[in-house]
Amino acid sequence: MDLLEYQGKQYFARYGIPVSPGGVAVTPDEAVELAESLGYPVVVKAQVQVGGRGKAGGIKLAADAAEARAHATAILGMDIKGHLVRRVWVEHASDIAKEYYASFTLDRGAKAHLAMVSAKGGVDIEEVAVEDPGAIARLHVDPYEGFSEPQAWLLVEEAAIDEEARPGAVDVLLSLYRCFVEGDADLVEVNPLVLTPDGRVHALDAKVTLDDNAAFRHPEWAEYELTAELDDRERHARQVGLQYVGLDGFIGIIANGAGLAMSTCDVVNQVGGRPANFLDIGGGASAEVMANALEVINSDASVRSIFINIFGGITRGEDVANGIVTALSRVDIKIPMVIRLDGTNAEQGREILRTVESDMVITSPSMMDAARRAVALAGNEK
Ligand code: GDP
Ligand code: MN
Repeated sequence: MDLLEYQGKQYFARYGIPVSPGGVAVTPDEAVELAESLGYPVVVKAQVQVGGRGKAGGIKLAADAAEARAHATAILGMDIKGHLVRRVWVEHASDIAKEYYASFTLDRGAKAHLAMVSAKGGVDIEEVAVEDPGAIARLHVDPYEGFSEPQAWLLVEEAAIDEEARPGAVDVLLSLYRCFVEGDADLVEVNPLVLTPDGRVHALDAKVTLDDNAAFRHPEWAEYELTAELDDRERHARQVGLQYVGLDGFIGIIANGAGLAMSTCDVVNQVGGRPANFLDIGGGASAEVMANALEVINSDASVRSIFINIFGGITRGEDVANGIVTALSRVDIKIPMVIRLDGTNAEQGREILRTVESDMVITSPSMMDAARRAVALAGNEK
């Protein structure tokens, strides 16, 4: 789950990372009230889950109440790369001498944490990575050993952070790592990390991605659900407890097991289709779960055909087939579907599915063949 900037800053603050004082406003009046209490100049910042807000006009400095009102009025309701601005964060503006970059993320390939620091902050780090890769100091951190102060010093020196900012940057890095690990994040990024003319180092922006798998030990994360930008399909799927990720293709996918669901997406891509979603219904494949899955997929207007890919393991083929038949009687499906059933008692299952076969409901024993049929049935875009 991605946090909004202000939530990220509040998260940072818990671990002692310095951030500017500020508050959230949903109306221009509230923004002005906050600005008055913070003292000018203030910066009014659009709270949306997308980078490059500054360039898009979503971040403005205000020297007085009239400016704060004008900026808040302009930014609230603004559309930034398809994200509607519902709230702004108003904070006391900082004087900036230098802008740096710092982050911790997971490097799954290296089975380690990855620290990145650069003296080229405030700009798109992906651009820096392409144009001037040497400007980013990288260090793999063994998750069992953790991140040490000498490593932090190594990074700030290698990144050529200005001498006067180094002690502050080291402190931020150590706190940021604690935030990353103890806070169960997959990504913590500060861009820019600034040096002020009076020599202080603090976080001017915050990007935090929480590891959803750790939600069980963070009841306090529940508040983030309220502002999470899920699309309607994901919200619906979450309500009925499905493992669903919305994608931008046109073949609706239902599979049992995350691995099979991923292979199903791959196979669909391989034969020229594009998956509209990832959906893992888990081991059970009961009628209830199948009906919920079909409902979510059926409500997705971009889906032109459905591919149900089930491999019976502990769950036997006839139970899966009965689940599908019952689900089909409950959900009014208007798009063609291909069902591939294999594994334990697949033959018995297919026998049951024969009762629902039609032009709209096709079965196939092979995954590749089923994928091809699903793509053919999707036809060309209207
Ligand atoms: P992003 O564009 O979405 O990454 O938003 P940021 O929060 O990183 O802000 C973008 C840019 O706005 C920063 O790199 C700064 O140059 C500028 N900015 C943000 N906050 C302040 C501030 O308090 N004072 C000044 N002078 N500039 C700011
Ligand atoms: Mn930024």
